[in-house]
Amino acid sequence: MAMNLTRRNFLKTASIAAASVPLSKVAAQAESGVVKTPLAAPGTFKNTQTAVGGVCEMCFWRCQLIGKIRDGRLIKLEGNPKSIDNGVSICARGNAGVKLLYDPDRLKYPLKNVGKRGAPKWQRISWEEALDTCGSKLKEIQEKHGAKGIAMFPHGSTATYPMGFLENVVGTHNVSEASFFQCRGIRDTAYMATIGLPPNEDVDMANAKVIFFIGNHLGENVHVSHLKRYLKGLENGAKLIVVDPRYSASAAKSDIWVQIRPGTDTAFMLAIMNYLIQNKKYNAEFIEAHGEGFDKMAEGIKEWTLEKAAKECDVPAEQIKEVAELLAANMPNVAIHPGRHVSWNGNDFQRQRALACLTGVLGAFGVKGGFVQPKGPKGLGKVGWPKGEKHEESLREMADVHHYSPPGTPTDLIRDTAITGKPYPIKGCVIWGQNPIQTIPNQEKTIKMLEQMDFVMCVDVMPTDITMYADILLPDTSYLERYDMIKSGTQWDFAEEHKQYIAPRMPLVAPGFERKESIWITNEIAKRMGYGDKIPVQSQEEAINKMLAGVELSIDKIKAEDGIHIQPGKDPYGEMEITVLFHNPELEENGYPPIPTYIPVERAPEGFMRLLYGRSPVHTFNRSQNNAWLMAENDSNPVWVNDKLAAKLGLKEGDTVSLINQDGVKSRTTTTVKVTPGIRQDSVYMYHGFGSMNPELTLGVGKGIDDCSLITKLAVDPETGAHGMRNNFVKLVKVS
Ligand code: SF4
Repeated sequence: MAMNLTRRNFLKTASIAAASVPLSKVAAQAESGVVKTPLAAPGTFKNTQTAVGGVCEMCFWRCQLIGKIRDGRLIKLEGNPKSIDNGVSICARGNAGVKLLYDPDRLKYPLKNVGKRGAPKWQRISWEEALDTCGSKLKEIQEKHGAKGIAMFPHGSTATYPMGFLENVVGTHNVSEASFFQCRGIRDTAYMATIGLPPNEDVDMANAKVIFFIGNHLGENVHVSHLKRYLKGLENGAKLIVVDPRYSASAAKSDIWVQIRPGTDTAFMLAIMNYLIQNKKYNAEFIEAHGEGFDKMAEGIKEWTLEKAAKECDVPAEQIKEVAELLAANMPNVAIHPGRHVSWNGNDFQRQRALACLTGVLGAFGVKGGFVQPKGPKGLGKVGWPKGEKHEESLREMADVHHYSPPGTPTDLIRDTAITGKPYPIKGCVIWGQNPIQTIPNQEKTIKMLEQMDFVMCVDVMPTDITMYADILLPDTSYLERYDMIKSGTQWDFAEEHKQYIAPRMPLVAPGFERKESIWITNEIAKRMGYGDKIPVQSQEEAINKMLAGVELSIDKIKAEDGIHIQPGKDPYGEMEITVLFHNPELEENGYPPIPTYIPVERAPEGFMRLLYGRSPVHTFNRSQNNAWLMAENDSNPVWVNDKLAAKLGLKEGDTVSLINQDGVKSRTTTTVKVTPGIRQDSVYMYHGFGSMNPELTLGVGKGIDDCSLITKLAVDPETGAHGMRNNFVKLVKVS
């Protein structure tokens, strides 16, 4: 094993300085908001009270909120004026949290499936019956097959506490988080293998002279303080380089748009580094102080001339040179963005290593405008399940593969094991806040895995495609109805008067119907499985107060401070204690390339285009697909087709099409064509997360095409076991 990653260490520095607090409280007794006299808020609402302490979870960024309450109902959300992160700003999705809260299709009661998995017939049952069933079924599987007979697919803050229970107390390794294995896990482990730290998105764009994006589409990818940082950088005159096969919102603002052939980004960066090294335009002083294996990397990438990369990447050699010169002229104040969703082509660990090494070549660590590690508050206490018996070997260890895997087990190892029963059976499945039908490529395999389970339970806020496969379906509280998660960090622009903040999530309204929070649900299941004595906390408040006690705070004190505690901070700049491993011998020992290496990917077969996908600025993938306000803004995902290609194919703007992939899988639904010169001819593009198939989603069902249904071929990243999701190809079929 090349790296000893614990989930806590990984999360501690991997995310956006959010202290992950795996806690909740008994929903039925939740205090209904923290209603105060109004703050000086931007909105003017008559006859309302202001509730403070909200923390958004329409996406993972966790902007701080206030809520306008009238007659006990939330009528509007706004940014908390006290926030030094998002301030009064929230995005379209943040505003639309009101519609999630009161969505009539939300799960309301515990349900039992008396039909079939995939074609459920729901029967309302009591919590007692639901919990008894979950507890007894999971215990039965544990006794028959061991802890490893249970798999979990968690997502979001509400899943952290039950994940701790299943991993630490029950003792299964078979936990796979979409945020690691289908999103950022590759980024984090690649940076750890290069600089010993996972990156976050806090790269100092606000003060950069050059901002460099590979496939990052900020503007469509909306995270408020992140976006503010980026826009401030542009306002201050930063040059923007965007490498993307598509004319994205960022490309539209760029000084240099590199319309690269998909999958060749590593070749592009190797050519830049080689050019900088050959022309002695690198940061020799930084490399002398912090680099290891620089000469070996320099020697190993010598073949990557501008001309060779130009051919491979299908971009002009002159443009690669122009990018390299711009970076060199502005080093070290260059923000090389590490990206977020980076599981693309199965060669992604190498691309992320190249990004980290390029940052090192420019000496852009710890400097203004570069890669910084803003120092958030220290001293928050820890609360969690006690570690149990030593685990048996994980599937990954047994197979001796993916030595740079993020914490947990690569999804496909779990699926294959469950389907084949080898090396052991997996018969119980807990799905908490994740929709693996839409997050994991190859839906047929996911469904096969679920079909062979003895028991499947889901916990969620909304019905989704995966909840159709549950035997027991439990209704979770939303982020507006519960205590949970302490968000902490620094002021968004790293201003000279340094500040830090601590903001626990507090409910703005009481939960409705029979919705319960994850701590209560987990504790009740734990008791029924015989682990009542291991329960670490009884309520969210208890846990948060324990954590806050570490910094001499409490929920009451923070309530009195309008939901956010602010304290003096630390300078984010200064020499970082890192070594940049341009050549990493440990990687070599484990059978991987020791220097960043380009691994070519398959090209589109004749008549097919690579299927690319990204974010709609007003949706969080599939999670917001039934939201009335957001669907009113954007209720489909037209497929972008290059104008010249469209002419060849006889397609015009607005035509209705279905898509068929290289394995003959046809989209279940149709969409329209968007004709544009802003996409390469070898690719098409669409928003991810549309085309839900659950008929319980009145607004979301069947809208647009589910791109994930067309991603049947996996591109597994060898170092991490994460799934590349841009390695499938489609044809368009006009629907008359
Ligand atoms: S970026 Fe938008 S959706 Fe995400 S946390 Fe902030 S307000 Fe909510």
